[in-house]
Amino acid sequence: MVKKRIALKYCGGCNPTFDRAEYVKKIQSEAGDRIEWVSLDYVALDGILLIHGCNTACLEKNFDFLKHGKVLSIRNDDHDPDEIVKNLLSEEKMKIKTKEDYVKSLKEQKVLIYYNGQRVEDRTTHPAFVPHINSAAKTYELALMPEHEDLLTATSNITGKKISRFTHIHQSVDDLIKKVQMLRLIAHETASCFQRCVGFDALNALYMTTYEIDEKYGTKYFSRFVEYLKKIQDENFMLVGGMTDPKGDRSKKPSQQADPDLYTRVVEKRKDGVVIRGAKAHQTGAVNSHEIMILPTQAMGEGDEAYAIVAAIPLDAKGVTLIFGRQTNEERKFEDGIDAGNCEFGMVGGEALVIFEDVFVPWERVFMCGEVDLCGLLVERFATLHRQNYGGCKGGVSDIIIGASALAAQYQGTLNASHIKDKLVEMLHLAETVYSGSIACSAMGSKTKSGSYYPDPLLANCTKHNITRNIYEISRLAHDVGGGIMATLPFDKDMKSPVIGKYVEKYMKGIEGVSTENRMKILRLLENMTGGTALVESMHGAGSPQSQRVMYQRLGKLGDKMKMAKKIAKIKE
Ligand code: SF4
Repeated sequence: MVKKRIALKYCGGCNPTFDRAEYVKKIQSEAGDRIEWVSLDYVALDGILLIHGCNTACLEKNFDFLKHGKVLSIRNDDHDPDEIVKNLLSEEKMKIKTKEDYVKSLKEQKVLIYYNGQRVEDRTTHPAFVPHINSAAKTYELALMPEHEDLLTATSNITGKKISRFTHIHQSVDDLIKKVQMLRLIAHETASCFQRCVGFDALNALYMTTYEIDEKYGTKYFSRFVEYLKKIQDENFMLVGGMTDPKGDRSKKPSQQADPDLYTRVVEKRKDGVVIRGAKAHQTGAVNSHEIMILPTQAMGEGDEAYAIVAAIPLDAKGVTLIFGRQTNEERKFEDGIDAGNCEFGMVGGEALVIFEDVFVPWERVFMCGEVDLCGLLVERFATLHRQNYGGCKGGVSDIIIGASALAAQYQGTLNASHIKDKLVEMLHLAETVYSGSIACSAMGSKTKSGSYYPDPLLANCTKHNITRNIYEISRLAHDVGGGIMATLPFDKDMKSPVIGKYVEKYMKGIEGVSTENRMKILRLLENMTGGTALVESMHGAGSPQSQRVMYQRLGKLGDKMKMAKKIAKIKE
């Protein structure tokens, strides 16, 4: 047998929280003669094992993971030595690494998708989907850039392997903060929704909640879920977080609906798995994902057991159909010009209705089935994790709107007018306010029973609620600064017309030195980002504002505040 040559590297050990030497001895004994332990200078290394004393994991910052190939980074003795050795010996790599891998994997998986009444044969080339694919692909592309590796990748707490942060379970407050920083960074690159956060949040919500379901009921969901997590971390595929049911008559419980399928449910329990029927609405990134994790849509009670279902379903499973939703000005994506506004990336996430027509799911992919009393907790956690994000991604999107507004003003000679400066300053204030909220709820995060970290729910809800207002105000100010021209510009084809192009060129011109085309590009970008679908998504994505108000009532401690006021006012009774 050919031995693997693995270099072992310890950190300085300034804050060791476990006996590293003893732990390494166990790993070495497990490896036996299958691994030759060599120094870092060795030229033909098969891998490196980094041993840290604590979660700071300072060595990770000094390692170019890509250059060194397989690097396992250990921060504590939670990992089974046998698992570590298996990882060091395995040839397996993240299956989807590059944009090309991602697109190829989408092409290979045949999913039943409809757009405007027509079946889409190749989802990777359809003009309505390509911008959304480009946005999601950025999450893969940026992870491979050494300057972004710290934000876009992480070390798995399950396997010790380097993984995409979008498949990571938060292990610290630092992880929660990095998540938000990562989202703002990707929004700067796409000016759009890059969709992967929904699946990411579903994974984190399930990690902590399956642990607690098992604790209460003695079930085996957590270990089952961890096996699934390993798969997604290794293969790096894209997961939809499927929460929202169509809901029909909202005054009635799931089991009281005239049509029972309006909430996704289990229609049959078999020895080998369950059969699922229903639909999930507004599913972000669904047409360019690989699997969907269905989750209950709301808290449930007695009688709704069939609706308390969590399951991971490949999107090419028999019985799954996707119908893509309309967007504002979507036909412009079919033109090859500047009228699309954001020429490369999508407008918001590209949402779809996902239908399940008696879809069979084996038990190893089921992570809740009938535990109605824990649906509310799971929904609250998923919502909190997604609401945490909005100051990151929408903060980043706001930065692009602000930049575009300033350019529009510059191109028409108004940038130095005092009222324009005031408006731009106000926009900056609004954007940083939402970002602060995301950072704050992350910084106030805490450890759950499962060991993972969770943002402060009250602050996360407040962050999302601010987005539902601030983005509208930022967009209103963008319209004010940009001017009415953004709503009345001629077509790109008018500008390119051999007959009338000269008029567009002449009369749409702003200041000297800036082409009419560039001015039109910026105005089109503003138009794309500040109207229609883009705004509605900010209002209702991650839950409508009313759901955040409900959380204030639950978590806002009004009674405590009344007591504090009484104390200050010296009211005794
Ligand atoms: Fe991620 Fe933001 Fe899109 Fe939600 S709206 S999926 S948080 S980029």
